[in-house]
Order: sequence, then structure tokens, then C-alpha cells
Amino acid sequence: MNPFRLVYEDKKSKARRGVLATAHGDIQTPCFMPVGTQGSVKTLSPGELEEAEAQILLSNTYHLILRPGIEIIKKAGQLHRFISWRRPILTDSGGYQIFSLALLRKVSNEGVEFQSHINGDKYFLTPKTIIEYQKILGSDIMMPLDECVHYPCTKDYAAQAMKRTLDWARCSKAQIANPVRNDISNGASDKQLLFGIVQGSTYEDLRKDCARQLVDIGFDGYAIGGISVGEPKSLSYNITNKIVENLPKDAARYLMGVGMPEDILEAVEIGVDMFDCVIPTRYGRNGTAFTSEGKLVVRNAPYSCDFSPLDKDCSCYSCQNFSRAYIRHLLCSNEILGLRLVSLHNICFYLELMRKIREAIKEDRFVEFKKEFLNRYDTAD
Ligand SMILES: [Zn+2]
Repeated sequence: MNPFRLVYEDKKSKARRGVLATAHGDIQTPCFMPVGTQGSVKTLSPGELEEAEAQILLSNTYHLILRPGIEIIKKAGQLHRFISWRRPILTDSGGYQIFSLALLRKVSNEGVEFQSHINGDKYFLTPKTIIEYQKILGSDIMMPLDECVHYPCTKDYAAQAMKRTLDWARCSKAQIANPVRNDISNGASDKQLLFGIVQGSTYEDLRKDCARQLVDIGFDGYAIGGISVGEPKSLSYNITNKIVENLPKDAARYLMGVGMPEDILEAVEIGVDMFDCVIPTRYGRNGTAFTSEGKLVVRNAPYSCDFSPLDKDCSCYSCQNFSRAYIRHLLCSNEILGLRLVSLHNICFYLELMRKIREAIKEDRFVEFKKEFLNRYDTAD
């Protein structure tokens, strides 16, 4: 059964409202998924994320396999219980991390051999084992192993990596029909969704070909990988647009690892439904807040006597209770609360942006909303 329901299409753009049904509840799209790479959204508790109305968290199979190790999560009774999160979880396979973090990689058609970036232990991951691990994690949405190439990348190598990603996608699809091996099974849900990942670097023909072949194999949703890896923004936008044109209307579209508020608005306008990014929490820990007027480096001296909230339009716990001056003091004194308050605000800002986007689409005013938002929001660093 198709887990995605297209609820409404904006009359003036390709933006759309949808609902993605998962084993741990429905997700209203367009949505933003806070990133909990290690099973934790840095500095925030699951209770705070629930209160901020995060609908789904993202975690990472590669990181969890390396530490604490799949056996410990299995003993805990799947990832939801281990991290105490009741709503949906998407687990990335870690393809991106293997190709950016791990040491001494050897890629073959069978899989990837690499050494842990933590302690040097050797691992060999195949498209099949990555799915088996995600079955044990019990995530609501699983991602297949893929090969994400750097930018720039030669067309020959991009084509080879794209072909390998497709072969691995086929293998992953075949694997979800198989029961988990008895020695590692803990009765993981059979309702886990599997998305396909479109690769092909910045080559339009490779991207289109990859998208079409993935659609032929048939997945519960389609992710766009390898975007925002250093290419110019206009190129990311064009490539994403071409890919979306080759994906079915009645399936969720997920743009992996993107991005800034302005990037999310651009992608929603061309019909993307799901986003994740470390930016709100990473910037939060650096003392930069996202506000309706742009980024605010609250650590800077001009805010030492500014007793207004991070964002006067925000109703989050940080903004309702604390001033820029106090948060700056906390950051300058290396008090952990400072990092927490800015991270919480940033996550709330992103989730509120998505709520406003969903409202605007429903009322056919997404284009106006985007324009109004960007008129106020300074995109400069
Ligand atoms: Zn706030």
C-alpha cells in the first residue's frame, strides 16, 4: 500500500501538502527532520523535541553500528526504546558518512570495506547487511546503502557510482522481503518503509536515468542524495528540479541534508516534501540563532545589553523566558544552558517555518509567503 497521500497541490507553484503514514504515526509534509546522528539531537531531550512538535527524527545507521554497536540496541529493544522516542525515526544508511568520514575505504560492487573513524576497527558493509541492521534498529523509514560522490566528480566516476547505487537499491529492495537472519532478529516491525536514493552528481542525464530506474524498481519514497556537497546553489536547484520532474507525484520526495531556510523554501516550491539538516543544532552550538530577520550571532558584543528575546516573533521556551544578553553571557561563560537555549530555539524556528509553509500551501499562498519571508529574512552570513 502506498504510504504517501498527496493532500493538496498549491495552485501557483509545485509546492504540495502530503501525509506519510509510518508505523509510529503520520507525518505531515513538507516536514523538517531534526538530526540525531548518534541517537540524540545534540543538547536536546526527546521531551523537548516532542514539545517543539518534531514529527520525526533522523538517525544514522553507520554511526550506531560503530557505537554503541547493533547488539546493544537490539538488547535495548530497538532504537525507539533505546533513545526513548515514540514518534517516527528515519535511519540514514550512512553511505554519505562512509564516503566522507571512514578511513581506508575499498568500494566494490559487493559493498564497502572501511575502518571506523573512532577506533580503526574494520567493517565490511553490504547493501544487504545495512538493511538487516535497520530492521534491527526498527526505524520507520530505512535508506539503502548508496555511493555519494564528492563535487566536482568526473562523469565516468559519477556514472559508475550511480550504477552501483542502483544495483545496491535493487539488492536492498529484495532484502526487505527476506526475514531477518535468526541470529540477529528481534522481531522488528515489518511495516518499515524503504526509500530509494537518486545519485548521479551534477549530471542531468545520470540523475534522470537514476530516478527513472529507481521508480521502475519501486520504493516507498524517493530521496535525492549528493546535493549541497559543495556545488554552486544554482546547480543544486536545477538538478533537484530535474530529478523531481522524473519522480512520481504520489510518492514522498526527500532532499537529503538540505539546508538553510532559503534552500528549503526553494525546494518546497519545486515539490520536495522532506528535509533534514544539522544546521539548526550546529549553528546553535556556535551561538548563531535563526530569526525571522536572518541569522543572529548572539555571541557578539552588541548583544551584551540587549534584553530582547532571540526572535520577538518566536514562542519557544528560550524566547519566552530569556534575553539575548543572558544567552550571550551563558555562551561567553561556556555554560551548557547557552548552547541548549539557542539549539532549542533554532529547532523551533525550523519546525515553525515548516508549519507556516504547510498552512500557506493549503491556502494557495505559498509563493507570497516565500516572498514575504525572504523580504524580511537576510540570507547573508
Ligand atoms: Zn525562540
